Parts: sequence; C-alpha cells; structure tokens
Amino acid sequence: MPHTKGDWIAEPIGNCDMPFYSINTGDCTKDIADVNAGPYATTNACLIAAAPTLLIACKQGAMSSHHLSCSHGKKGSGNICDCHVKQCADAYFEATKQI
Ligand SMILES: [Zn+2]
Repeated sequence: MPHTKGDWIAEPIGNCDMPFYSINTGDCTKDIADVNAGPYATTNACLIAAAPTLLIACKQGAMSSHHLSCSHGKKGSGNICDCHVKQCADAYFEATKQI
C-alpha cells in the first residue's frame, strides 16, 4: 500500500502545546494531523509518527511462524489463534485495507 514517504516526525510546532505530525517528504514537509493539547498529546503524536515503522514490523510479524502452542494458526476446534502472528496480520490488514 503506498503512503507518503517518511520519516514521519512528531514535533511541536509554534508556541502552543499541540504537537502536529509532520511528514518529511524530502523537499517539502506537510502536516497530516494534529492532536489536541492534553495528557496524551505527545504520546499520540509519537504513536502516529511511528506508523510507517509499525506497518513494516506488522508485515514482517505476519509472515513469521506461529507459536507451537497455537498449533500453527488453529486452536482446538479450528478457532483461529490469537498469537502475535495473527495480531500482526490483523493490524497489517487494518492499516492497508481499501476504504
Ligand atoms: Zn498463532
């Protein structure tokens, strides 16, 4: 799934306490989101800025081996496991779905 190239950098802009997310696209920088000032503003900004890196990690995790304890993707009566592989696959699907 193509997206704006990174690095995505969370940095406060101006003199206010509302950090903006900036995407460094090489020759220009544009803000893609802002968060309201509050106790989670900085951590929310950092989480979003990490999205491209997390996406790559989820893709890699989704391709890794299931834990032996989850029977390689199935549990007991055929229920899908909930190990890290499934969680990475779900997160990758959510991030790359077409809406
Ligand atoms: Zn599993």
